[in-house]
Amino acid sequence: MNLTVIDHPLTRHYLSVLRDRRTTSEQFRAAARRLTYTLIHEATARAPLSQTEIQTPLEPTAGYQMQGVVAIAVLRAGLGMLDAVVDLIPGVKVGFAGLQRDEETALPMEYYFKLPDLSGSTVLILEPMLATGGSLAWAVTKAKSSGARDITALCVVAAPEGVRRMYEDHPDVRIVAAALDRELSPHFYIRPGLGDMGDRLFGTQ
Ligand code: URA
Repeated sequence: MNLTVIDHPLTRHYLSVLRDRRTTSEQFRAAARRLTYTLIHEATARAPLSQTEIQTPLEPTAGYQMQGVVAIAVLRAGLGMLDAVVDLIPGVKVGFAGLQRDEETALPMEYYFKLPDLSGSTVLILEPMLATGGSLAWAVTKAKSSGARDITALCVVAAPEGVRRMYEDHPDVRIVAAALDRELSPHFYIRPGLGDMGDRLFGTQ
């Protein structure tokens, strides 16, 4: 399958904070950032390293540098994962995919797209709520048409419907998530989920 669920105790702890309806926006932002750190480890497991020679206080030894990673944040909820990504991944470049979900049809409508050069890059797409998969499939199509080949999606919660859609449309894309939830509601919210990620991050509900 194309999905890896991270069940590390820290991931489960911070996911529970995010799910809890009593969590304030400030606490929610901190938990989203901390949970993302726990996903990055797996998501970058195949990122390329260049080798250099470095000098310890005692002798020369091999050193390694990670390079060539590009993150694409799907607006607006993907912003909740961005701080951890730019903090932890050396030299990461960042693109933005502005996709708005039509509340009736759940179809994505593009309003902003800005990507750095993606050729030869390891691409991480930050799409915290993989619901129908429409936004992620759209962002992946755009990234591929800009030259991306090695693509991993970082999700907080995935629904089976979104995972299936990605497997059908983009079977080469890996998904790293903190949870695979039960189902989508009739209004395309993930159940049990955590509600509207963008609203909870930014206090707009
Ligand atoms: N987007 C969200 O923010 N939450 C969901 O449950 C589904 C999509």
